[in-house]
Amino acid sequence: MPTIVKYEKGVKLVRKPENLSFVADPTTNSASQGSHATFITHAHTDHSVAFPDAAAKVFSTKIASELYEKLTAKKPKNTHYFNFGKTHKVEDIEIKFIPAGHLLGAAQILFYFPDKTICYTGDISTDEMITVPKATIPDDDIDVLITEATYGTKDLYFDTRERTKISLLKWIAENLQEKRTPAINLGHLGAAQEIIAFLNGMLSVDILCDTRTSRINQTYKDYNVPLNWENFEEIDVSIFEPENTVVLLPRACNKLPAFLDGYKISRGMVTGQAARFAYRKFDQTFPFSMHANSQELVNYVEKIKPKKVYTLYGFDSELAALIRHRLKIPSRPLKLAEKKPTLDDYLNESK
Ligand SMILES: [Zn+2]
Ligand SMILES: [Zn+2]
Repeated sequence: MPTIVKYEKGVKLVRKPENLSFVADPTTNSASQGSHATFITHAHTDHSVAFPDAAAKVFSTKIASELYEKLTAKKPKNTHYFNFGKTHKVEDIEIKFIPAGHLLGAAQILFYFPDKTICYTGDISTDEMITVPKATIPDDDIDVLITEATYGTKDLYFDTRERTKISLLKWIAENLQEKRTPAINLGHLGAAQEIIAFLNGMLSVDILCDTRTSRINQTYKDYNVPLNWENFEEIDVSIFEPENTVVLLPRACNKLPAFLDGYKISRGMVTGQAARFAYRKFDQTFPFSMHANSQELVNYVEKIKPKKVYTLYGFDSELAALIRHRLKIPSRPLKLAEKKPTLDDYLNESK
């Protein structure tokens, strides 16, 4: 009997006829109800709403649940931990987590159903980073690959991460030389730690972060990722050295913290979204992402050689088309998995 793959406020896997049902990265509590188990790939909040849901039986890495707690100040409930690379049994189905890159503790999930082996990537990065390894290629033959497509269009241009990091470094050095303090907005979890690790290795400057980012940094440190920074909400900021300091701010933070009043500031933004949008309030933007870009995603799929691909998040239709054309592997957005295409869909998809 077949295992059905579909999108229903989460990645839903249903085994017939017994109606055994798993959900991965549900976006509502109701998606976990009626599922025998809920899997969470990583701590980012668009994937992890099920952590505090006591009614869901959640499986994740220990690091993901700790980072979730630091990020949201909510307590995970009813969570069971998987280690990377170890096969576990849930409701008689073998399941394995392997590293996804992206951020600490982020997993790809392998489901070994009797009729098919399914791999769900969650969010991945396939580039070696300072703070996380690159995503592991599964050893198994994969029948169905469900891959993220956040930046899955070739219309978005990303320079290499190395070059983007170097241009950030140059911008910081030039500003400090002109006695301006760089204040850089970036994601609390993932990008912030990668950029701190990079700057720690390249420049002897003080790095100041807010409390939430500091808590996340501490978890990275607890897991042996060395990071050096200080919390500007805790230290005596009257002694900060404006010509030797980089301030990191949460990505959505518009207003500068009060201790910077009266200083010359240059504002930077580090986010993959800078490849899509202009951030006019900022002096400089850096399109740096902890997500694989479209070329990296296509290369990744090519290495795995799955029989079928479903794409999810962001540019799902665009990535599915790229995979069909470049790799000749059947591919469609996961949200259309259950639906038979209309003639229009069919013609659009085969363009
Ligand atoms: Zn993520
Ligand atoms: Zn995501």
